Amino acid sequence: MPNRKVCIVGVGKIAVDQHVPAINDSPDWELAATVSRQGSVEGVPTFRDFDVMLSERPDIEVVSLCLPPQPRFQYARKALKAGRHVMLEKPPGQTLAEVHHLERLAEEAGVTLFATWHSRMGKGVAGAKAFLAGKEVVDGNISWKEDVRQWHPGQEWVFEPGGMGVFDPGINALSILTEILPKPVHVIRADLDYPEGRQTPIAARVEFTRGVGMELDWLQKGPPSWDMEIRTADGGHVVLRFGGNELWIDGEKKPVAEIEEYPALYARMAELVEQGRSDVDLSPMVHVSDAMTLGKRNVVESFAF
Ligand code: NAP
Repeated sequence: MPNRKVCIVGVGKIAVDQHVPAINDSPDWELAATVSRQGSVEGVPTFRDFDVMLSERPDIEVVSLCLPPQPRFQYARKALKAGRHVMLEKPPGQTLAEVHHLERLAEEAGVTLFATWHSRMGKGVAGAKAFLAGKEVVDGNISWKEDVRQWHPGQEWVFEPGGMGVFDPGINALSILTEILPKPVHVIRADLDYPEGRQTPIAARVEFTRGVGMELDWLQKGPPSWDMEIRTADGGHVVLRFGGNELWIDGEKKPVAEIEEYPALYARMAELVEQGRSDVDLSPMVHVSDAMTLGKRNVVESFAF
C-alpha cells in the first residue's frame, strides 16, 4: 500500500492524544503537515491558514479534521472542493443536513469521505455484533458517565450550540449500539438536564424501543463508566465495558480484537481511499437529534470548568 500523506487540522486534545501517534505508528501514513491557529507537532510543517495549506501542498491527498464540530463543515467543504479525501472526527457535524451536503460534495469530487466513529473500533464491538446477529433484543442498558473536567478540560465549545453537551461522549455509545443491534431502535422519551445558563445538557436519560435505556452523566467522580449490556429473547446476555473494548457473553469474558481504535480508523481510511469509497453513517447522530427534539428540559445547577 502506498505511503499516504495526511494533514491534521486542529491540533488539540484528540489530535495529540490519538491521531498523531496512530499516524506515526502506521507504515501506511505520513503526517505531512498540520493546520492549527496555535498548535503544532514537532518536526511537522505547520500552517496557520487552511487555504494556504490547500494551495501550497497539492501533494497532501488526505485531510483529517480534528476540530470541534462547529467549525468542521466549512473546513470539510473546502477540502472536498479542493479534491482531497476527508476524515471527520465524531460527531461528523453540527447538523445532519451539513453532513448530507458533504456526502454530495465528496461524490461530485470523486473522493472519499469517512465519518469516523472511533468507539465502533472498540476491540469487543465486532464480537458483540456477531453474537447478537439474528437475535431478538428485549432489554438493554447503557451507562456512559465521565468527568467533563477531565475529558474536555476548559473546552467551552461543548456547552455552545452544536457542541452536543453530554451527547458528545454519549454519541460514542450510540455509535456502538447502532453497529451491534440486529434491528434498529428509536428514541421514545428523553430527559435532559441543562445547567443554568448553558446551551447543551450535562446529563440525560434516554429511552429507546426494545427496552433499551441510556444514562449519560458528565459529573461522574472517579473512573468513567463506558458500559452497555443487552439481553435477548433466547436468554443471551452481552456486556461491553471500557467503551466497547472488553466483551462478556453469558457471564464469560471473551477474546477481542488486538488493534486499537485510532490505528483501526486510519487502516479503514487507507482501505476506503484505495477502493474509492466513502463511509458515512449518521444513525448515531439521528438518535441525538431525536433526543434533543423529544427531550424534556430540566434546568439544573450552573456549571463552570
Ligand atoms: P479541542 O482540543 O478543544 O479542539 C481541537 C482543536 O481545534 C483546538 O486545539 C483548536 O486548535 C481547533 N479549534 C477549536 N475551535 C476552533 C474554531 N472555532 N475554529 C477553528 N479551529 C478551532 O477539542 P478535542 O477534544 O480535540 O475534540 C475535537 C473533536 O474530537 C470533537 O469533535 C470531539 O468530540 C472529538 N473527540 C474528542 C475526544 C476527547 O477525549 N477530547 C475523544 C474522541 C473524539 P487551534 O486553536 O490551534 O486552531
